[in-house]
Amino acid sequence: MTRAFIGLGSNLGDSRLAVAQAARRIGALPNTRLVRSSSHYLTPPWGLHEQPAFINSVVEIDTSLDPRALLDELLRIERDAGRVRDGARWGPRALDLDILLYGEDIICAAALRVPHPYLAQRAFVLAPLAEIASECVVPGQGRVADLLARIDAGECRRLESLPETEPSA
Ligand code: ATP
Ligand code: CA
Ligand code: CA
Repeated sequence: MTRAFIGLGSNLGDSRLAVAQAARRIGALPNTRLVRSSSHYLTPPWGLHEQPAFINSVVEIDTSLDPRALLDELLRIERDAGRVRDGARWGPRALDLDILLYGEDIICAAALRVPHPYLAQRAFVLAPLAEIASECVVPGQGRVADLLARIDAGECRRLESLPETEPSA
């Protein structure tokens, strides 16, 4: 099993529901176990500013899917959630699922780059990632907590958990 981290985002439709459902679906993938989920964060759009704020979260999984198979499964979950790839780069989307880290692997293929190339620049990734894995080391870049300390995450607001996503007693 490999420990991997997935970044979740949405700014179209019921984004909190989409992110919560996507986390559950990731945990239900074959040969995969959901280990931890961060809170949801309300975050300003990145790259393209004229669009609604995002809901972002990060989940940690244990998986024996290889990175390419994991990506295919994530793209399928995005499609099922209504994601259409026809708009501007970094534009509004119902659901975005990115592989942030896959063990210590460094992957540099056209269709898959891991660690995620913009991870160290993105408060909306580092804030939730640090919540669940601050000591984790990003291969070639350092500890998550140190990466977060280098950027301004002041505009990423951690939200209370949804009643329906609270763990059952
Ligand atoms: P960004 O990658 O900057 O966050 P994005 O998430 O908006 O941008 P998408 O349109 O969702 O980009 O994805 C385009 C393609 O990026 C995917 O089809 C996938 O093949 C590729 N890709 C490369 N590296 C990754 C990764 N680590 N996780 C998910 N997709 C990736
Ligand atoms: Ca993305
Ligand atoms: Ca993506």
